Amino acid sequence: MTNTDDDTALSAADIARFGPDPLATFRTNLGAVEQRIAAACARAGRHRASVRLLPITKTVPAHILRYAHAAGITNFGENKIQEAGSKHEQLADLAIDWSIVGHLQTNKVKYLTRFAREFQALDSLRLAEMLDRRLASEDRFLDVHVQVNTSGEASKFGLHPDALLPFVDALGEFTRLKPRGLMTLALFSDDMARVRPCFVRLRALRDETVRRHPGMSGLSMGMTGDFEAAIEEGATVVRIGQAIFGKRPTPDSHYWPGAVAPP
Ligand SMILES: *Cc1c(COP(=O)(O)O)cnc(C)c1O
Repeated sequence: MTNTDDDTALSAADIARFGPDPLATFRTNLGAVEQRIAAACARAGRHRASVRLLPITKTVPAHILRYAHAAGITNFGENKIQEAGSKHEQLADLAIDWSIVGHLQTNKVKYLTRFAREFQALDSLRLAEMLDRRLASEDRFLDVHVQVNTSGEASKFGLHPDALLPFVDALGEFTRLKPRGLMTLALFSDDMARVRPCFVRLRALRDETVRRHPGMSGLSMGMTGDFEAAIEEGATVVRIGQAIFGKRPTPDSHYWPGAVAPP
């Protein structure tokens, strides 16, 4: 597909959501996020290069993502595989690495292995086995983070912390999967005193994991509402959507069924 004027034409709804100049909006927002990441790194005595920003593009339409790409974003994170696959097709003319960060049903495996470079929500051996088999048939590899439920909330996907080490040991047989680390969604709360223990927990689990699996030093944790605390607690990947692309029209319960703001 060529990038004609029509591909990037802005509707009134686009302008209401992303401003009359989405490129300028995204550049400004990215600059602000970048400063906050750098400041959190400085507070924690960490190098900026030790933290990767993974922009989360869910609900942002493909034609708007052309502006995000122009603003310098080349790695897009999506929660839902159908939405990601559709955007991948519409943006096939751009060099983009796709990361899937949301729960994947086993019957959707073939849609992911076709194009994704990374999957951050691995939480079952059945899924690992199906991904591995499909990747082998396509002669592809996939970076994975294992998702852990650190908040104890039933609405969150991810392994129970007690199940993590045996799970990670078992991943060794899947040669097409490249385990890079752990991922979590912290408790949803404005109260960092309740959020931070989720990050501390994931870091401790990562420290245990990495002793047996040296390649798994990654810690994907921190979103718009809590990424600075996550960096202070050791995050190597922060997954940030709304601070870059603005508020989403869909409620979070669309992604985390049953998610309610805790009191
Ligand atoms: C949407 C999403 C994010 C980013 O959330 P924001 O509040 O937009 O920063 C991070 N991780 C996952 C798994 C998501 O689905």
